[in-house]
Amino acid sequence: MVEHRASSAETPVTTITGVSIQFLGASSGIVTGSKYLVSAPGMNILVDCGLFQGDKRSRALNWEAPPVNVPDIDLVLLTHGHLDHTGFLPRLVNLGFKGRILATGPTLNVTGIILKDTAKIQEEDAERANRRGYSSHKPAQPLYDLKDVERTLKLFDEVTEGEWTTLAPTIKVRFQSVGHIIGATFIELDISGERIVFSGDIGRQEDILLYTPKRPERADVLLIESTYGDRVHGSQADTVLQLAEVINETFSRGGSLFIPSFAVERTQLLMFVIWRLLGEKRIPDIPVVIDSPMGVSVLDLFHHSRTWHKLDPEECTRMCAHFHRTMRFQETLRFRKDNEPKIVIAGSGMVTGGRILNYLEYRAGNTNDTLLFVGYQAQGTKGRALLEGATTLRVYGKVVPFKMQVRRIDGLSAHGDQRDLLWWLELVKDPPRNVFIVHGEKDAALAFQKLLLEQRGWVAELPALNQQVKIS
Ligand SMILES: [Zn+2]
Repeated sequence: MVEHRASSAETPVTTITGVSIQFLGASSGIVTGSKYLVSAPGMNILVDCGLFQGDKRSRALNWEAPPVNVPDIDLVLLTHGHLDHTGFLPRLVNLGFKGRILATGPTLNVTGIILKDTAKIQEEDAERANRRGYSSHKPAQPLYDLKDVERTLKLFDEVTEGEWTTLAPTIKVRFQSVGHIIGATFIELDISGERIVFSGDIGRQEDILLYTPKRPERADVLLIESTYGDRVHGSQADTVLQLAEVINETFSRGGSLFIPSFAVERTQLLMFVIWRLLGEKRIPDIPVVIDSPMGVSVLDLFHHSRTWHKLDPEECTRMCAHFHRTMRFQETLRFRKDNEPKIVIAGSGMVTGGRILNYLEYRAGNTNDTLLFVGYQAQGTKGRALLEGATTLRVYGKVVPFKMQVRRIDGLSAHGDQRDLLWWLELVKDPPRNVFIVHGEKDAALAFQKLLLEQRGWVAELPALNQQVKIS
């Protein structure tokens, strides 16, 4: 995995003539850190600029400069706003990137919200680590701060979904919606008539909240995600039923339900499903707390981006009014102490930071409470450890016993399963010359590689981290 990394810290971007792609993240079984550098004559384009998340070794990669000369990168294209696709941007700017950052309007908005939140969390974590003295770095530093984020936001440039944009005489790009989250797209990059398709993260064929993904019709070179390349999700009806069961079982024990959720991934979907369950009286009328300032900001974005989702504006307003939305940290401290049964949806989605940790610090030993996972948990995260049966939890430098009930519902994931991935490729009739499977743990990527060969006869590669491949 990490050992594939090239040792040279600063090699020129273009070392191969023609067009090449270098896999600077989300490769070698690593899901996070999506970054693909396309080097074409006269232009170097970075597609996605994600943060590495998960275990210490992965996170350490964020502190290293990528093995390219960053000022040589002309442009960044973003598939969507998630941290593992955008969270490295302020660091890229600090390393000398001065070009434009292109994406759809909602993606740029989501990215802005996420980057500001990340900078704040990093500054707070560094400050806390220094105060309590548990960091191995002395003094602990944030990877970037709010000022770095402000400089990054100035480079944002909005594109229109579904329309080609010319980048250079022989290079054009199109962003088309792909479900997953609001504003998310796949990217088609045409260079001298050759088409490179970057899938980004592919949503579900049938999503309660978002429209069916558009699909590519042609690809000479394809990079496809494989997060759930080895899995089939349950139906959405089953998923809603499972959620009702978890809520009811927790309530009957007199406990509270805590749901770590990505602010932009599932918080709005969870709200919508819970709202429907309340309306149908399939769950008791217990308080629901949305403890995620970022989730609240994204909810506002839903109001302003109506063509991107199925939520009726009036229903959205009624739903929001029903839930308790927490902005102030003082409220978090109050909610975590009171024993009234409730549902709390709080970030971060993989329990790597955010307010969910403030709740767990206090409630981890409570056997009546339930911790429910509704999204992907990367290797090395606290979420993954708890899902796999950890009996202790490290919070803010101290170890606490963990006795909560743990449940998991995969069907609410924003990622398509292996059937969705195959469906997404159906319109591509001619086999691409190169297929690269990225953004998946090794087992998922290998399973999807096998499936592509069996179902389509396509031979796909699993690129290594930092590998550079000549494609024309
Ligand atoms: Zn994503």
